[in-house]
Amino acid sequence: MAFNLRANLYPQLLAHRGHMIECVEYGDGVNMALECMTCSTVLMTQDKPEVRCQGCDWTGTEEDMEHVGANIPDLGQRVMPGEPMPAGECPECGALAHVIERWTCPDCGLVWEDGTHACTSPDCHRDADA
Ligand SMILES: [Zn+2]
Ligand SMILES: [Zn+2]
Ligand SMILES: [Zn+2]
Repeated sequence: MAFNLRANLYPQLLAHRGHMIECVEYGDGVNMALECMTCSTVLMTQDKPEVRCQGCDWTGTEEDMEHVGANIPDLGQRVMPGEPMPAGECPECGALAHVIERWTCPDCGLVWEDGTHACTSPDCHRDADA
């Protein structure tokens, strides 16, 4: 079972006390996983964040952008209060690019990115926040 980072991890960590935990890279760094070698269990997995440009639909990673985070020129004037912080500036058109947020259903494996925290599969009524 994978770790739910919002949950109390103590019982789950206790179950792996003294085990060999390794951080493993998959697909040339596209995905990182924390695995217990003793139990052959994936504890946690995280995909490399992908970003998408608001202006031209360019997608890439933070490494593809010249100006990221606080280095974005005129950041204060380009982001309105309450707006999500951009990840960087699009190398194609110079518009702001944001990290694409994706959710994966732990039950059926469906991946979605529309911002709802509940599984959108009609066959699965899992609430991902539960
Ligand atoms: Zn273990
Ligand atoms: Zn762009
Ligand atoms: Zn589901």
